[in-house]
Amino acid sequence: MTLEKRDYDVVVVGAGGGGMSAAITAHDAGASVLLVEVGDAVGGSTALSGGFVYAAGTSVQRAAGILHDSAEAMFAYYMTLNQWKVDPAVAWRYCTETAVTLEWLLELGVEFPVANLHAAGVDGVPRSHEAVGEGRALVAVLERSCRERHIDIALGQRVDGLIQDSDGAVVGVTSGADQVSAAGVIFATGGFGHNRDLLQQYYPDAADAGDWCWSVSGRHAMGDGLVIGRGIGASISGYNRGLLLPTTGMDRVFETPLPSWLMLVNAAGMRFVDENAPHPVITGVIRAQRGPVHAIFDEEARQHGGPHPENVRCERSSNFTPDAIIAGVTSGVVRRATTLAALGAELRLEPGALGAAANRQNHHVARRRDSEFFKAPQCLREVSAPPFYAVEVKPAIISFTGCGLKIDPDARVLDLTGTPIRGLFAGGEVTGSVHGKRYLGGGNGLGNCLNFGRIAGATAAEYARLVGV
Ligand SMILES: Cc1cc2nc3c(=O)[nH]c(=O)nc-3n(C[C@H](O)[C@H](O)[C@H](O)COP(=O)(O)OP(=O)(O)OC[C@H]3O[C@@H](n4cnc5c(N)ncnc54)[C@H](O)[C@@H]3O)c2cc1C
Repeated sequence: MTLEKRDYDVVVVGAGGGGMSAAITAHDAGASVLLVEVGDAVGGSTALSGGFVYAAGTSVQRAAGILHDSAEAMFAYYMTLNQWKVDPAVAWRYCTETAVTLEWLLELGVEFPVANLHAAGVDGVPRSHEAVGEGRALVAVLERSCRERHIDIALGQRVDGLIQDSDGAVVGVTSGADQVSAAGVIFATGGFGHNRDLLQQYYPDAADAGDWCWSVSGRHAMGDGLVIGRGIGASISGYNRGLLLPTTGMDRVFETPLPSWLMLVNAAGMRFVDENAPHPVITGVIRAQRGPVHAIFDEEARQHGGPHPENVRCERSSNFTPDAIIAGVTSGVVRRATTLAALGAELRLEPGALGAAANRQNHHVARRRDSEFFKAPQCLREVSAPPFYAVEVKPAIISFTGCGLKIDPDARVLDLTGTPIRGLFAGGEVTGSVHGKRYLGGGNGLGNCLNFGRIAGATAAEYARLVGV
């Protein structure tokens, strides 16, 4: 398929959640829209996602009896969790938009039943709205909405450049030999989880994990929007931000969370965390150990460490089946020893430290109280039945990247002086302005793309109206 040689008010690049939200919103504001997608289908990472959307002050919350949640409360939580190391104006816009976007999605036909409302991460208030049918269903609704509006969609077209006029305003895109002119361009090209060079430059925590590091993102998460925008002078923000999840490297399995019955020890052979801590925070705690971290368990756990009826988070990932663990021993990824002293020596831990950590843990199990880290007692397991096992754990699975084009609260891309680049807008994972140092919890990846996709669509349509085509 080749791009049509005709003008549009708005060209949206990337047809994931951000791009389709932008396209629908720009269309509904009166703009003619072309949506360009490199893949042979729409969806991107959004289609692969769990479909959790973060929002505060929604009708779903009210139906669940949560009557007093608000943008203000979400903002206070967002800024505190991120120690105010995120642009307050952008965060504020995000917080004030989430309920509007959720109602918009409900109107389009996405289902968010009350039963699918969860408290995400370390959040005390249930704000994570899980779409029925996960990301795939969300994408199906957005695609249907684009098609119903007769928005032009060009699949299989990789945008590789921007066209600027003599004043530097963005006035179109290029894709190979094809060009399309438009009043405004919205980048919604997603993240760069599959681009090793960009990981090295902008997400060193991920790149540091070397061969362990892999991304669950859609395969076109190559950072095209970031590179093209940077090439015309866009500012980049969100250095080293994103969501890295811990893994044992036993297999490339998206295992979130790790089985919470594991005992984690640092290079000193000491436990350092409630191993059951939510995924938005445990990565930072593991990295803060500044040395290898190992998961320790015994033969009893290898054989029977399955789900605990009292706590669904005590599940077993496919890496931790009895057979997979033995396969890990055979391949050398999992270490096994008949005594904790021998295992500790193999891991080069302080002599006696591992045995002492296990003794303390066994004591907590007997008392049904973890007086060190306050892990839920039903998730504690004894480490007492030989042989003993150890497997290294590293934050290395990239769920999303959080560095990208710097935007203002209206989703206008900023240059190095903080001035909007005329005609260029962005929303979603291609931007670097929304996520802070700590992931808020399930729903903020989609929250970012859906909210700032809509905002970019509205701003670009208004810009097109003002400048004409
Ligand atoms: C397995 C998985 C589970 C997740 N679960 C959740 C969850 O439950 N909740 C949550 O909040 N977050 C979740 N996330 C994160 C979240 O899904 C993403 O951050 C979000 O969907 C990104 O949306 P986007 O529109 O910015 O990018 P994408 O959805 O990735 O869309 C970008 C699109 O741009 C296209 N593109 C790229 N380059 C070009 C180019 N040069 N020209 C044309 N097109 C281009 C891509 O092909 C893609 O279709 C998950 C992520 C993954 C991978």
